[in-house]
Amino acid sequence: MNCWTRRQFGSLVGAACLTAVAPRVARSQARARVVVIGGGIGGATVAKYLAANAAGIEVTLVEPKARYTTCFFSALYLAGMRSLESLTHGYETLAQRYGIKIVHDFTAAIDPVAKTVDLKSGGKLPYDRLVLAPGIAFKFDAIEGYDEPATEIMPHAWIAGPQTELLRRQLDSMEDGGVFLIVSPPNPFRCPPGPYERASLVAYYFKQFKPRSKILILDAKDSFFEQELFQDAWVRHYPGMIEWLPAQFTGGIKAVDIKDLSVKTAGDTFKGAVVNFIPPQMAGGLAQQAGLADQSGWCPVEPTTFESKLQRGIHIVGDATSGGDMPKSAFLANSQAKVCAFAIAAALTGSARFAPHLFNTCFTFLAADDAVSDAIALEPEGGTIKISEILISEVGEDAETRRQVVQAANGWYDAFTHDVFG
Ligand SMILES: Cc1cc2nc3c(=O)[nH]c(=O)nc-3n(C[C@H](O)[C@H](O)[C@H](O)COP(=O)(O)OP(=O)(O)OC[C@H]3O[C@@H](n4cnc5c(N)ncnc54)[C@H](O)[C@@H]3O)c2cc1C
Repeated sequence: MNCWTRRQFGSLVGAACLTAVAPRVARSQARARVVVIGGGIGGATVAKYLAANAAGIEVTLVEPKARYTTCFFSALYLAGMRSLESLTHGYETLAQRYGIKIVHDFTAAIDPVAKTVDLKSGGKLPYDRLVLAPGIAFKFDAIEGYDEPATEIMPHAWIAGPQTELLRRQLDSMEDGGVFLIVSPPNPFRCPPGPYERASLVAYYFKQFKPRSKILILDAKDSFFEQELFQDAWVRHYPGMIEWLPAQFTGGIKAVDIKDLSVKTAGDTFKGAVVNFIPPQMAGGLAQQAGLADQSGWCPVEPTTFESKLQRGIHIVGDATSGGDMPKSAFLANSQAKVCAFAIAAALTGSARFAPHLFNTCFTFLAADDAVSDAIALEPEGGTIKISEILISEVGEDAETRRQVVQAANGWYDAFTHDVFG
């Protein structure tokens, strides 16, 4: 029998071996059925950790895409430092090594009373427990002129794949001397340092190939995560190339015009040669449709089990969740997924429960040989989740320290994606 060791089950300090006892569901002899919707970071991790460690559970993973491309490290692709293929992962190992049933389909609806999931192709999947990890959706009605067709002209590239490729093509064909305009969304949104890492690495690319070009960031906010670290790096690596305008300066983002590639703020209109418009965000569409999101647009969850606070028997992990201090990151989605898998195994097989511990580490590239990191530990507290420890890189660190973070980041990518898909 497999069991979770401390090493394998990083987010569960003190986790003991799950015993493969008969499931607590009514159907005699049958294995409990867990259906996981969404084969991104959160969903694939829940599926893998349940299938690998709880023998009494049959796991089905529903994901429309045949292969998953990571958003993390996509800025390296935009800068020409990695191929998209190197960021793309399949589901073969999850199926073959862990026996997970992979269904490549889109989940159209959930019936929490009948405990079934409707697939777009017409099939139906029964479940004893359901996990949703649908990621994010965009609020297309929030900014005048930015609807779904507009993403083909002004890509968001905030869900990796064809959008990221489109943005790369636009940057490649942009003339030297052009302005790359990034619109950064209001909080909360997927990957708080993401827009600014993207600006840094596109500047790295411009510095080599289009040195007269500029980057303008129009922000919906007045400050951003790791601001001092970024602004220090922009002065050191890309003097005069990146300009950041906060909402208090522009008066906020009001509208876009895809015909002349312009973004209108309260005060001015800004034109770009390439416009990367990252819209305001909310939990993925299925979570909204199933009534799992509250007025904030995100899904409130119990901090020790990731069970929905709005619908019992349904768990939610990843960016779609809301709760206290949790940032929307792949690392945390993976950490949440392990806590969730452990709680589901306990509920269905009677294995022991343990206090969950959540962690997040983000590596952020400022240039090819300059990266910073932030690490946080989080704990359940008063019905929500709070940061208990924090460790962040500092302005003024020497070049060798930053090179070591680059090495750690590359090692992390391989180990992390193996943990999720391997
Ligand atoms: C530019 C950028 C850089 C980033 N860098 C980092 C980083 O360095 N470190 C880090 O930790 N995080 C980073 N992130 C954040 C990270 O990518 C997300 O936090 C992570 O992907 C969240 O995982 P998830 O499972 O919630 O969603 P996703 O990984 O997006 O997965 C959601 C999945 O659900 C599927 N799905 C949606 N609806 C349905 C449906 N109805 N039926 C079936 N399937 C469905 C989708 O196809 C998708 O595969 C970055 C993000 C961006 C945009």
